[in-house]
Amino acid sequence: MAVRLDGAALAARLKAQIREEAAALSRPPMLAVVLAGEDPASQIYVRGKERDCAECGIRTRTHRLPAAVSQAELLALIDQLNRDADVDGVLVQLPLPEGLDPRPVLHALSPEKDVDCFHPLNAGLLALGEPRFLPCTPAGVLELLDAYDVPIQGRHCLVIGRSHLVGRPLAQLLTARDGTVTLCHSRTENLPALTRQADILVSAAGRRGLVTADMVKPGAAVIDVSMNRAPDGKLSGDVDFPAVEPAAGFLTPVPGGVGPMTRACLLQNVLRAARLRRR
Ligand code: NAP
Repeated sequence: MAVRLDGAALAARLKAQIREEAAALSRPPMLAVVLAGEDPASQIYVRGKERDCAECGIRTRTHRLPAAVSQAELLALIDQLNRDADVDGVLVQLPLPEGLDPRPVLHALSPEKDVDCFHPLNAGLLALGEPRFLPCTPAGVLELLDAYDVPIQGRHCLVIGRSHLVGRPLAQLLTARDGTVTLCHSRTENLPALTRQADILVSAAGRRGLVTADMVKPGAAVIDVSMNRAPDGKLSGDVDFPAVEPAAGFLTPVPGGVGPMTRACLLQNVLRAARLRRR
């Protein structure tokens, strides 16, 4: 039976540490959040981030903008936050309302305040192995593997999904840790033959039921990043949890696995941004 990788418990420990470190700074860190439009999921995510920050002694300031905000107004706000000496980190909640292009907005963000690690400069530094910030979800996956002493060096790590948000940067981080990485996507041929070779199997495809028991090498660590919302509101990942649990060595639940770790790693980045700016 697989050991459950308890992201909720680990995130709580990390948050306690972050709270202590934030309290030791001369001035508490400040995260500015930009929330445009009325997307209900985004409202919930932002409230969660505000709560997480409050628990850790990190101040937040949320800028709520109407869905009709123009690209120019959004860029003007980013410019203002870039220059605001009290603001350590800036988070632009995605997706932006229809008609707004997120790229110029994310590219306009000061790289020093880019706590989501979306700016091209920060993505480039990560690719070069000299990260300023670690992207939150990939960093959370690594923290989980490390906390449960799952070895990465020399192991075959297979990541399903090549998005700039999750799969691609995770493949880079696993490579930097000397894993042997296979990066798969929707055009990958014979996915099960590949996944059966993986010591660490990460699924970030956003496809419920994609990873079945016959795709898992016995004893493998299986990390389910995905959050698929069923019509009845129930959350599930890509992995057929009950079928995979007896075969895998380690397995993340959904919810309670990678999700809380992503949130904790955002707080780590805000703390890091505050430290870098106080040097
Ligand atoms: P995304 O941008 O939609 O990327 C999905 C990736 O999966 C793409 O590379 C796609 O391939 C690949 N893919 C889709 N179907 C596939 C299949 N049948 N076989 C193999 N590969 C397949 O999604 P994302 O933003 O990376 O997010 C992925 C999932 O993680 C979502 O469920 C999201 O909600 C979740 N997520 C969770 C957290 C967390 O904190 N737990 C954080 C972020 C995201 P192509 O490139 O060929 O299209």
